[in-house]
Amino acid sequence: MTKKILVLPGDGIGPEIVEQAVRVIEYLRDDAGLDISISQALVGGAAYDTTGHPLPQATLDQARDADAILLGAVGGPQYEALERGLRPERALLGLRSELHLFSNLRPALMYPALTDASSLKPEVVSGLDIMIVRELTGGIYFGSPRGIRTLDNGQREGFNTLVYNEAEIERIARSAFDIAMKRNRRLCSVDKANVLEVSELWREVVCRVANEYPDVELSHMYVDNAAMQLVREPKQFDVMVTGNMFGDILSDAAAMLTGSIGMLPSASLDTQGKGMYEPIHGSAPDIAGQGIANPLATILSVAMLLRYTLDEAGFADRIEQSVEAVLDDGLRTADISQDSESIGTAAMGDAVLEKLHQSAN
Ligand code: NAD
Repeated sequence: MTKKILVLPGDGIGPEIVEQAVRVIEYLRDDAGLDISISQALVGGAAYDTTGHPLPQATLDQARDADAILLGAVGGPQYEALERGLRPERALLGLRSELHLFSNLRPALMYPALTDASSLKPEVVSGLDIMIVRELTGGIYFGSPRGIRTLDNGQREGFNTLVYNEAEIERIARSAFDIAMKRNRRLCSVDKANVLEVSELWREVVCRVANEYPDVELSHMYVDNAAMQLVREPKQFDVMVTGNMFGDILSDAAAMLTGSIGMLPSASLDTQGKGMYEPIHGSAPDIAGQGIANPLATILSVAMLLRYTLDEAGFADRIEQSVEAVLDDGLRTADISQDSESIGTAAMGDAVLEKLHQSAN
């Protein structure tokens, strides 16, 4: 059956980088024989400008109907004065919660040609390939009660609730084990079980789910140690799974090990493998419209879409290898160029497509 891909370009550099990723999807459809359809819809500031809402009902309906969504980026300074519910970023939260996208995949991959871009020594990061699986719709960011209250003595007190039930832990654990099975079959669960009861339960449930995956080697690590190990010896990790807040922090730290924000894709999945795929960076208003943004994170998001939603690992590999080959040839957009030599967004798209065509022969 034809798989439906919904494309949401969004704001700032979103449309420019998505245009290059769409060329890759069109290649897969027209030249490589993949049975996929592509449609587009408005999201974020672009949707607000046209419809008065960052996530119009029509976009949400199309997103529900799609098998996978490819998103560029949303946001921009012109929208910052809007009330919270109308800001472009609300569209992302809306899509995640309406589509139950609870499992956030954040790879941190070091391309050999870019080893010098990391702030860590080359021997520490060369060959790095980590996948962080972060629980995205629960934990302390969503727990209640929450708020700021005034105590009897007149002092104000802020409070949030860190809560995970067994079902939530089970489904994120299963998602992480499934991903470990597609990689090197090592999973490290990160918690704070020496202090938090939530983490005690987390560990117990992760161990229970592990019985279903005898081929995956499971380990546990406290979050403070995990932060330290990520910068000390990051190559010890294959897949890491953790809760919402710990994952928020660790995935950004891991991303920076690779030294470049324009290279990293991400995915947010539901229990059926339906997903929203997007670069980790924002809409980069400072360079929007100049044709210099790096489209590789968005193109690599297409590779993740193929691997995790469409189960087309062969095509995913080909896209990733094409990106690597382009970098090996020395081609760089300005953000990853160490000298003054750089190419623009469309030229980078051309180069990846050329490699894709070559890899078919
Ligand atoms: P940003 O990621 O947009 O930009 C940070 C820096 O990285 C900028 O200097 C930018 O030019 C550069 N950069 C980012 N992506 C690049 C690319 N592909 N190629 C070359 N350079 C790139 O973060 P910001 O400036 O803090 O945020 C800008 C806007 O994006 C804000 O409105 C913010 O809310 C929004 N935002 C959206 C998302 C999302 O859509 N998922 C994520 C983060 C921020």
